[in-house]
Amino acid sequence: MSNTVVIPPSMLPEDGRFGSGPSKIRPDQVHALEAGATTILGTSHRQTPVKQLVGSIREGLASFFAVPDGYEVVLGNGGATAFWDIACASLITRQAAFGVYGSFSAKAAASTKSAPFLEDPVVYEAEPGSCRLPEPTEYVDAYCWAHNETSTGVAAPVRRIEGSREQGALTIVDGTSAAGALRVDIAQTDAYYFSPQKAFGSDGGLWLAILSPDAVARAYGIEKSTGLEGARRWIPPFLSLKSAIENSRKDQTLNTPAIATLVMLEEQVRWLNNNGGMAWATARCDKSASLLYRWAERSEYARPFVDDPACRSHAVVTIDIDDSINAKQITAALRENGIVDTSGYRKLGRNQLRIGVFPSVEPADVIALTECIDYVVERL
Ligand SMILES: *Cc1c(COP(=O)(O)O)cnc(C)c1O
Repeated sequence: MSNTVVIPPSMLPEDGRFGSGPSKIRPDQVHALEAGATTILGTSHRQTPVKQLVGSIREGLASFFAVPDGYEVVLGNGGATAFWDIACASLITRQAAFGVYGSFSAKAAASTKSAPFLEDPVVYEAEPGSCRLPEPTEYVDAYCWAHNETSTGVAAPVRRIEGSREQGALTIVDGTSAAGALRVDIAQTDAYYFSPQKAFGSDGGLWLAILSPDAVARAYGIEKSTGLEGARRWIPPFLSLKSAIENSRKDQTLNTPAIATLVMLEEQVRWLNNNGGMAWATARCDKSASLLYRWAERSEYARPFVDDPACRSHAVVTIDIDDSINAKQITAALRENGIVDTSGYRKLGRNQLRIGVFPSVEPADVIALTECIDYVVERL
């Protein structure tokens, strides 16, 4: 990769961050850090200022998601990855059914498979680039899938599986890269969980979950119950959802959170709500995503990876590149010009670009990105 392509500065997007997580952090979020530099940063998470911050995040998210009566916003340390193990320890009683259509949905199912006190999950699998919800399955007590499969750019519907309520099964949805970017009716879920470094443009390390009264009751019930052999399930305190719920009700976390992550998250939730909440955020993502898909459809060397337009994500856009051009050379040239994190998901192994179009990304920057890609490809 010797001959560098220099993109004229006037063509460049104002902000070159298009990652699918970690993703663009808006300058105002960093200003919020500066504003709290001597008052909140470096202070106790058990005292009022930080508790108020957590309270504001919980209220702001409840408003953003228009949560039904009785639902609670709960948080803890460890990111969505930790929540997979929390679901095993604290939400799934015997067995879960999974929809698997990419890396993240597969990892969630793998966590359940590794839990010795659970039966192996029933897995409904689809090829990367398509999507498959779990099907009605006897005996299972949880249905799980991902709203947005970040590894492939596939968005899945979020609606309860037929018969799930009658059989007493919870609906547990990984909303990590969808929350804040894609429409969702929380009433269709019992646990909708996510990390803040995607559409909420903060840093990683935290998980947030919106829990239904049934999910809360399940978490309390599992901690009280004895298993098949009369032994109690060992629930490591870090994976106890009951403990997270009780801490969250006091606007706290079990152990010390990254306060900077909370500050930047709080600023983003307020920004989204002030601009019009979920309706505004999702319309903005629709716009950015359709700019990219339409560009790819018109392009002679690019096309949307996901065939079914209904499954194409409006949060993470995946674009296949013609084999005559090496996508890695495109992403490398873009990076040298300050446009970063446009590579496809490594393990998917396709000649592909993957672009995060979360609410923080300016649609005008998405247009500039497409022009920069064309500019680079013409000169490779
Ligand atoms: C990023 C991501 C995760 C993992 O999030 P962490 O915060 O790194 O644990 C899980 N699920 C989906 C769908 C993701 O996009």
